[in-house]
Amino acid sequence: MILFKKAADLRNYLDVQQKTSNMTGFVPTMGALHAGHISLIKTSTRENALTICSIFINPTQFNNTRDFEKYPITIEKDIYLLETAGCDILFMPSVNEIYPGGTSLKIHYDLGFLETILEGKYRPGHFQGVCMVVHRLLEIIKPGHLYLGQKDYQQCLVITKLIELIGMKDSVDIAICTTLRETDGLAMSSRNMRLKEDERKKAVAIYQSLNLIKQNQQKNNPDELKKRAQQILEQNGFKVDYVEIADAKNLELVDKWDGSGNNIALVAAFMNEVRLIDNMLLS
Ligand code: AMP
Repeated sequence: MILFKKAADLRNYLDVQQKTSNMTGFVPTMGALHAGHISLIKTSTRENALTICSIFINPTQFNNTRDFEKYPITIEKDIYLLETAGCDILFMPSVNEIYPGGTSLKIHYDLGFLETILEGKYRPGHFQGVCMVVHRLLEIIKPGHLYLGQKDYQQCLVITKLIELIGMKDSVDIAICTTLRETDGLAMSSRNMRLKEDERKKAVAIYQSLNLIKQNQQKNNPDELKKRAQQILEQNGFKVDYVEIADAKNLELVDKWDGSGNNIALVAAFMNEVRLIDNMLLS
């Protein structure tokens, strides 16, 4: 695996590599890698001649300073996991490399409705920061395939919209990969490392609450299920930002079953100061 820290060096290298065909798969991450990230890398290595992973803790997407300061960093382990998974290139830029003109927002990305709900509502500015970094990374790397995790479902829709907005729809294919879970069902997340032992045990309540919604769709209406899911979370010490059921296409909230079978349940909740998110398709 080759490590690049400078955008210009990586671009020069890719100019040669991408000359004949663009079989470049790209997996953007913030590091503290786990098996979920590695599953994206492995999917990319199977489907592309060249796989690039970026590790960059993007300051512009954090709406909470403490969350940014406490974000886990495990770079030696990350490098080991990437090498073992067959990743070809690791791009690990500085803030200055990504934002040579500073970190303030230069373009407003018109995400419309998507930015007003769920993560957009509870983390103001978060998706503008996501778009800033992904836009810059896509311009440096120009991948043919972009691998994203369903774990961040709304982010997948935001990035799909971003790719349209910046005119890259025809050159970049997005693959949404399934969420990898721990054996008890908790979605793998870098932030899980911040949970204390007892908090980690209780965190499985997120998975249980999503399962409850999925299993009882035939019997209960969405509102009843959301209330019961919230109770499970609160009984286990979570402070809930939201439990919602939405149309999986556009995240419009669903208050009665419409028979489309294309819904998704989504949760965001704090276990003390650690905020976790997860979701489950209900089809
Ligand atoms: P992050 O480093 O958290 O920004 O995540 C980088 C990429 O890995 C994003 O596309 C995430 O959705 C994806 N990802 C995070 N957790 C998981 C997981 N448990 N399973 C599969 N993909 C994941």
